[in-house]
Amino acid sequence: MRSPIITINPELPNRPRASVLVIYTGGTLGMVYEKGQLVPFDFSQIVDKLPEIKRLDFEVTFTSLDDILDSANMRPEVWLELAQTIAQYYDLYDSFVVLHGTDTMAYTASALSFLLQNLNKPVVFTGAQLPIGVARTDARENVITALEIAASQVQNCPRVPEVAIYFQNYLLRGNRAKKKETSQFNAFRSENYPPLAEVGVTIEYNEPYIAPYQPNRKLKHYNRLDTNVAIIKIFPGISQAVLRAMLQIDGLKGVVLETFGSGNAPTFPWFLAELKAAVARGLVIVNVSQCDGGRVTQGSYQTSTGLQKMGVLSGNDLTTEAAIAKLMFLFGNYPNEVIQRFGLPICGEMNA
Ligand code: ASP
Repeated sequence: MRSPIITINPELPNRPRASVLVIYTGGTLGMVYEKGQLVPFDFSQIVDKLPEIKRLDFEVTFTSLDDILDSANMRPEVWLELAQTIAQYYDLYDSFVVLHGTDTMAYTASALSFLLQNLNKPVVFTGAQLPIGVARTDARENVITALEIAASQVQNCPRVPEVAIYFQNYLLRGNRAKKKETSQFNAFRSENYPPLAEVGVTIEYNEPYIAPYQPNRKLKHYNRLDTNVAIIKIFPGISQAVLRAMLQIDGLKGVVLETFGSGNAPTFPWFLAELKAAVARGLVIVNVSQCDGGRVTQGSYQTSTGLQKMGVLSGNDLTTEAAIAKLMFLFGNYPNEVIQRFGLPICGEMNA
């Protein structure tokens, strides 16, 4: 991570009311067309493209990753670098905005919510569907509103002290959000948790659903993730060979099993036997629904009772993104307590 490079001071005569550190990681927002393809460009150009920043009544400082990424290339070591950067500058800035590609933004936001616990400052992710240089871009509104939200305070305390995603009119809890749209501007939804804010002419905060600011709460920064995990999405026709090959990957410790509906899976004897053998070998298997809304309720259908009996854990109403990040976090930091801890919410990612 580069050290902060550009600081934009407000043109207003009064003292800035807040300071925001913007961390640019890449994504469409900062891309340009080169030979007909979108490729990331140097982030310093972002400031030229967003002169509106000068009209905000708080200070904005920009920094960036050393390597600008299409978020398809995002990986856990970069999540750790991001968390480290926020922890390092935590006392120097009032809040943080992360500019990130939309493709894997929900994974990164989920991971950061686990790596930065006891947050008392906003960490707001945003990005764009169209590059900032394009006339119809959504980047301008997304970035300016994300900055406004990050800087927003009530009685000198941050209004949204949690990891969130702001995208086209909605502020969502980061570990509840999913990318749902490839072409429309409203790219993110959170089916199982209400928006933290809705944005129109005014920004309407949904106070009861926002994690409360707690004075004296000290940031707990974690710096380990274990990536020996996998997501297995079942489908009608999945073969024993495919399931077995995945469950027997060398070193694999945890699996997010994406099941049908409220947590249902085939009851073929071979299917249950493969899973049972994996659980017996010590693999932690978590049941998450392929549906975006609602929750897994193991035992409500015969097709999930077998999973429950053999010790597959219910992922309740977790998103797949949050579930895989939670497994990496727990295996990285509490390797002997993954089963006990998985069912307990850590930072608002699920209902118990
Ligand atoms: N491929 C891009 C990315 O995630 C898409 C985007 O930013 O919207 O980095």
